[in-house]
Amino acid sequence: MKKLKWYPCELHCHTIHSDGDFTVSELIETSKERGLKGICLTDHNTYSGREEAAKEKELAILQGIEWTTYFGHMLVLGADRFVEWRDAVPENIDEKMKQVHAAGGLVGIAHPYQLGTPICTGGRWDFKVKDFSLVNYMEIWSEGEPLMNSPNLRARAWWHQLLSEGFRIAPTMGRDWHRKERNKRKGACTYLLCEGDELTSKGIKDAIQKGRTSVSAGPLFYFETDKGETVGDEIEEGERTFKFTVDSERFDAFGFDYEVVPERIVLYTDNLKAAAECKINEEIRTTLNKGYYTAELYGRIGDDENELIAFTAPLYVKEK
Ligand SMILES: [Zn+2]
Ligand SMILES: [Zn+2]
Repeated sequence: MKKLKWYPCELHCHTIHSDGDFTVSELIETSKERGLKGICLTDHNTYSGREEAAKEKELAILQGIEWTTYFGHMLVLGADRFVEWRDAVPENIDEKMKQVHAAGGLVGIAHPYQLGTPICTGGRWDFKVKDFSLVNYMEIWSEGEPLMNSPNLRARAWWHQLLSEGFRIAPTMGRDWHRKERNKRKGACTYLLCEGDELTSKGIKDAIQKGRTSVSAGPLFYFETDKGETVGDEIEEGERTFKFTVDSERFDAFGFDYEVVPERIVLYTDNLKAAAECKINEEIRTTLNKGYYTAELYGRIGDDENELIAFTAPLYVKEK
């Protein structure tokens, strides 16, 4: 097996090519300042920033677009050609998603519970998806603080419901980044587990497709089992020991000015049923049944106790 490494990324970015204040080069420079290793360029309904972004050599950039419609915002990453979005309506969205996949792209649901009109027209997801296996990822966390706001909690609940129905959807954080923030505020990023010592645009795409994501307000957080399995893997039922990594050193790279103190870890399964719990320096030994398992990290963020600090994509378990 090739060497795998986690990289902090921002998967939802806008520039002056749509409604952002960043030029493409400002977005790239700010991303590097923040310690991000990869970004996705997702301007509303346009690819026009693509040529400028393609010149960048250091930061990994996956080209994308945010289909911005009255029925929801859909993120399309890494497609090799334009897919017509202007005729997307709630009834044909499965067909449109299939066209994206045929063009080699990934499908993501952006901020599914964002407030709609008049605050942001079409920001809430109203597309009627029939087959959620067409969806690669979903923004469980969106924008900045508070992280556990009502839209984010609802997205987490919907995601777990879909996982419990057997769909495989990677969770992401989307800052929906438009400009350099005037004030420091709480934020988070998506860590991606990729092959090799350098992140590439293909690495970003592969990690999301394989469900190798972990969302965090600071420290890198993930697990490995005693059999070497990790986030995004499919395994057989049976007993496992989970070993957790909470890498707080990564936190400073983001320049947030609040403290994060990890305290405990909860393993979730079956539509948000807590399967096991431990302190951060402990392990969990448990029997895994068919379904999925995600890990969540809790502790203090700034002055707020018992906050959700980070959570992983699932480990998928099949029958023996
Ligand atoms: Zn949007
Ligand atoms: Zn956006």
